Amino acid sequence: MRENVEEFDMKKVIDNFERITKDAENVQKETLKRILEENASAEYLQKLGLNGRTDPDSFKSCVPLVTHKDLEPYINRIVDGELSSIFTAKPITSFSLSSGTSQGRQKRVPWNDELFETTVQIYHTSFAFRNRDFPIDSNGMALNFIYSSKMSQTKGSVVAGTATANVFRNPGYKQAMQAIRSPSCSPDAVIFSLDFHQSLYCHLLSGLIFREQVQLISATFAHSILFAFRTFEQIWEELCNDIKQGVLSSRITVPSIRTAMSEILKPDPELANLIHTKCLNMSNDWHGLIPEIFPNVKYVQGIMTGAMEPYLKKLRHYARDVPLVTSDYGASEGWVASNVNPKVPPELAAYVVLPQIAYFEFIPLAQLDGTQGDLKPVGLTEVKIGEEYELVFTNPAGLYRYRLGDVVKIMGFHNSTPELKFIRRSNLILTISIDKNTETDLQLSVDAAAKYLAEEKMEVIDYTSYIDLSKEPGHYVIFLEISGEPTDELLGECCNCLDKSFTDPGYTSSRKVKGIDPLELRVVKKGTFQKILEHFVSLGSSVSQFKTPRCVGPTNTKVLQILCDNVVNNYFSSAYN
Ligand code: AMP
Repeated sequence: MRENVEEFDMKKVIDNFERITKDAENVQKETLKRILEENASAEYLQKLGLNGRTDPDSFKSCVPLVTHKDLEPYINRIVDGELSSIFTAKPITSFSLSSGTSQGRQKRVPWNDELFETTVQIYHTSFAFRNRDFPIDSNGMALNFIYSSKMSQTKGSVVAGTATANVFRNPGYKQAMQAIRSPSCSPDAVIFSLDFHQSLYCHLLSGLIFREQVQLISATFAHSILFAFRTFEQIWEELCNDIKQGVLSSRITVPSIRTAMSEILKPDPELANLIHTKCLNMSNDWHGLIPEIFPNVKYVQGIMTGAMEPYLKKLRHYARDVPLVTSDYGASEGWVASNVNPKVPPELAAYVVLPQIAYFEFIPLAQLDGTQGDLKPVGLTEVKIGEEYELVFTNPAGLYRYRLGDVVKIMGFHNSTPELKFIRRSNLILTISIDKNTETDLQLSVDAAAKYLAEEKMEVIDYTSYIDLSKEPGHYVIFLEISGEPTDELLGECCNCLDKSFTDPGYTSSRKVKGIDPLELRVVKKGTFQKILEHFVSLGSSVSQFKTPRCVGPTNTKVLQILCDNVVNNYFSSAYN
């Protein structure tokens, strides 16, 4: 299975990273110069009158800060097939589709080979540090829960797929993964199938077949790992049966998957019995599932910060003493930063910006309240420890001074390059009047309520929120999917706790004077959040990039409908009565 690939020199990668991060200011100037020189003939830059200048001051005075919406007229021309130098000198021929989970619609963003190169740089950097702390044998395999997605063509024949699909499909991908000792144990047909239920089944089956060789379990986002093992709890007997008989379950109908799996699936009653016994012994709570089934796994890896943090508790339950390592920080629009301290638990992780992959700017959060006039972002090396900023970048795929919409906090510096913590999406705020609650506030509130459930050995499987303005003065609605069967009394307590845990003074004062109505807890049926995932996948999003929307906005009507159709009970808070 493994091709003979020359491994990259890990020491060289680390030395190079140290050198670059020591000289971040110059590297940033060089990066901007390179991007602007290469794309000097692009219409977007020409129109803004940059006239070939490549220094940061000219760049900032000519080129405005933009959001995706501002770029849509240009993007639509590319969608329609205009193959001229609009954003970049070399015309854009592919798009990445963002997951669309936060705003309810997928954004198209330019994709090109340069972005693949930056992906490889990020992968190699974080792997070099990871492998220093948690070495993987050169013959190790990875159980990668990765899924491609539908590639489509715009009416102008531009190829569009999710960013992860663009990466997995790149001819250099396999080699890049082999170099970092992470070749997938699953056949390609499993990754590239468009039926993610069948892919997931076969990822798990491949993992079991190669259980001794699997040294790493990973996914792009931690949600996919959790989803996979929750599914394993349901289907382990069927998987064991396939291994015992050497015959793939009839639920797998995609011919390319059947062919590929038949090459690795042989009757192995001994292995089937071993797994069966282990599962029977664990099946009361599945604690330690990962090390029990995969005895040589060194760590579990995926993006585990931000919207993924609520899943860490359950993931730790499955992983027991196997370390959880958060991977990197980026978006469909491009990569930002690497985790070079893999031993740090995900809750405390900070990512070091790679100054050679894009030109970065940071808008101080205080400027975003609109009282300070023009936005004046600061440069990568000018940020201050402890401050929060909205991230802006200029990348080699034609995004110039692009507001990513993420808020980050500067935790420190690695040499002269900032280490940042992802805080939240900037636009996700629960607000009715003067109250302002962020994604983090919501998470804290749900965590507090989950403690009541944990006392009764129940857990929150997933959650989201909604602002209900159908009746004056409006109120917060929190949707929870819960394991087990909590009593009304317990759910009433959870509801009060959710309400009380929003401590923003704007919220508490409004609640006291009845400027905001009591918070409503709506409990949804088991499987509701899976339906939401399936909905996004049906729109062309990839399971690999799925993030549960933490606030369902007015544009997310379908998600709201799924939630409302599945409500089993609702409770109103009496916390401020
Ligand atoms: P998308 O391009 O839609 O798949 O999502 C990109 C978004 O995912 C980013 O803008 C962040 O909000 C989030 N994200 C990506 N990497 C991380 C990370 N390491 N920690 C927290 N959030 C992340």
